[in-house]
Amino acid sequence: MKTQPRIALIKGDGIGIDVTDAAIRVVDAALEAVGSARPDYFEIRAGATCYAETGADIEPGGEERAGEGDAIFLGAIGLPSIRHADGTEISPHLRLRDRYDLYAGVRPVKAYPNAPQRLADPRAREIDMVILRESTEGLFYSAAVHGRAKVVGDEAVYDTLRISRGVTERLHRFAFRLALKRKARGRPGRLTCVDKANVFASLAFFRKIFDEIRPEFPDVDVAHSYVDAQALDLIRKPWEADVLVTENMFGDILSDLAGGLVGGMGMAACGEIGDEIGLFQPAHGSAPDIMGQDKANPLAAILSGALMLDYLGEKLDAPACSRASAMIEAAIEVGFAENRLRPMEFGGDMGTRAVTEELLRQLARRDAAA
Ligand code: ATP
Repeated sequence: MKTQPRIALIKGDGIGIDVTDAAIRVVDAALEAVGSARPDYFEIRAGATCYAETGADIEPGGEERAGEGDAIFLGAIGLPSIRHADGTEISPHLRLRDRYDLYAGVRPVKAYPNAPQRLADPRAREIDMVILRESTEGLFYSAAVHGRAKVVGDEAVYDTLRISRGVTERLHRFAFRLALKRKARGRPGRLTCVDKANVFASLAFFRKIFDEIRPEFPDVDVAHSYVDAQALDLIRKPWEADVLVTENMFGDILSDLAGGLVGGMGMAACGEIGDEIGLFQPAHGSAPDIMGQDKANPLAAILSGALMLDYLGEKLDAPACSRASAMIEAAIEVGFAENRLRPMEFGGDMGTRAVTEELLRQLARRDAAA
């Protein structure tokens, strides 16, 4: 077993820097608590500040180096005040997604006690799902950055929604394996294919491939839903959702909707996983309105760190990493339940440093008790 993972660290801009520092401290403490070495981090400079200072949005050779570790951890990239000449924001991380074929966008959505819940129904406390968003094609195949839209003068614009067999087979297999993994951890292990197969040939193909792969995983309970009905159900009965697999644009919208049910941007973790490497980052941006003020909630970044450890546990066959991941999640759960985690984002009195210190205290206690 390889014991010391190598992590490419891209802190980026704004609160990305503070929340990355917080996540790394917590990841290191959890690994220490399970008797494992801290990862070997190597930093890569990228983002809007890098662009303003050097003229390049990522340091020379940075894109290649990012792929040299076992995983990439990213804080947040972009500042509205620093843009390319055409007005678009600085976004080298989008190239990493393409370069490393990070097709599986993992967005966990979980309710924590005493954190904001937008639904009055008490069952909203049980929300615990993962939205798996395909991240390299779908309607984003036509994203402006790729320049693939067909523009007919000033009269019409055509975007393309691409569903390919290769990507979709890998995505669905990833989804089935994720459902099985959650089942082994006491969740229902139910996988829902979310599409619009009744209207679009591309999404009928997405569903067809799902149904072809299904017999490989007889222990996974499956369902199908149309994206409009799924949006309704995410408000009516989100506690019934377990793993949802869907096209890029649908996943983009549904994961924000679901994230809104359980708090705010400061809780939204994200993994973007390919066959070779995974990139982990909080789903929020650089939040320039609160940067440098110790107000950012670091929990999305810390939960992304836990997701990264879980990924490394499997990838490197390192059960200690998986245990450290579970330990971070448990510390957050207990911290909220005992009202010892009170992020400012939710009207509490704890800034970035205070939330981080509280988690470090809890992990040290567990370490001592172990
Ligand atoms: P991007 O497009 O880069 O994702 P965005 O414009 O959607 O960024 P964010 O940077 O994610 O915006 O922030 C949106 C708002 O949410 C910010 O104004 C900020 O106040 C709040 N916010 C985001 N992340 C956090 C956080 N970790 N803690 C507290 N508040 C946050």
